[in-house]
Amino acid sequence: MAYDVVIIGAGPAGLTAGIYASRGKLNTMLIEGPLPGGQLMSTTAVENWPGNISIMGPELMINMREQAQKCGCNIMSASVTKVDFTKTPYTLYLDNGQEVHAAAVIVATGASHKKLGCPGEKEYFAKGVSVCATCDAPFFADKEVVIVGGGDSAMTEAEHLTHFVKKLTVVHILDKLTGKDPIKDKVLANTKVEVLYSSALKEIKGDEQKVTSIVIENQLNKSLKIIPADGVFVAIGLAPNTSIFKGQLDIDNYGYLVVTDHTKTSVEGIFAAGDVADYRYRQAVTSAGTGCMAALDCQAYLNKK
Ligand SMILES: Cc1cc2nc3c(=O)[nH]c(=O)nc-3n(C[C@H](O)[C@H](O)[C@H](O)COP(=O)(O)OP(=O)(O)OC[C@H]3O[C@@H](n4cnc5c(N)ncnc54)[C@H](O)[C@@H]3O)c2cc1C
Repeated sequence: MAYDVVIIGAGPAGLTAGIYASRGKLNTMLIEGPLPGGQLMSTTAVENWPGNISIMGPELMINMREQAQKCGCNIMSASVTKVDFTKTPYTLYLDNGQEVHAAAVIVATGASHKKLGCPGEKEYFAKGVSVCATCDAPFFADKEVVIVGGGDSAMTEAEHLTHFVKKLTVVHILDKLTGKDPIKDKVLANTKVEVLYSSALKEIKGDEQKVTSIVIENQLNKSLKIIPADGVFVAIGLAPNTSIFKGQLDIDNYGYLVVTDHTKTSVEGIFAAGDVADYRYRQAVTSAGTGCMAALDCQAYLNKK
């Protein structure tokens, strides 16, 4: 299979790139990956997407996918497991055994929530363990809940949770919160909130159906304590999905793709869009914007060639 451009990723960045590239008459293939629709599939109302006062995340993404297909974008349900960007046409190896070739590639693989990696996290995911307070807070009305993390996004999630839960314990590995947003003061002032500083969550325990407690390790004296919990929200940041590009594209110390001149990666003809190259804004609208830019840059590159 050979295309003018292959887009990796079906979040706002990839699908917007798909709309622009196919409307620009490029023979375009978009490979959806493990999360068709991207991060917004795991949220409820989106209220900062211009043109929609409020729209559910999944509805927005289904609309975007339909629009890309209407514009002529081919979409494949598969994940890219390996790439060869050392020679053109570029080769992408898929988890279904197929190979796809492209004159140009747009990388829009976004970012994923960082995991704790402790026992119980995987077993109790969606059985009390969550990464999205916006989505799941109502399930924890009048319950005892723990949130792990101390940055701005953790504090935003924590503030949201305080409107629902009976008690919220913030577990933070450092001796002070790292978030700069004033929202952390609101969290700290809430009588429902207790902060355990210099503490690491070591294990999530349950009764096989749901979370019942967690094990905390004090980082100063290494003592362990068990506290009851009905829910655990993991808010320790996002990691860009760049592992398959290691050794092929320049990646910064934090794992983000390095771009110059807006969307160009370190290899000619390979462009990047969205959260995969954006540690700063990480919004649907900015991802869509860079998806548009990458498609236009890609078109200019192919025309010149
Ligand atoms: C709970 C939650 C709520 C949010 N709410 C808002 C909001 O209200 N407003 C807002 O502006 N932003 C919001 N955001 C942020 C927003 O969702 C992201 O900034 C945006 O989705 C990033 O878009 P993206 O296209 O760069 O990547 P993503 O949405 O992360 O999509 C990445 C895509 O890449 C694909 N992919 C990954 N690896 C591979 C691979 N190996 N092969 C093929 N495909 C691959 C995935 O399947 C996915 O389709 C929210 C995020 C979360 C998690």
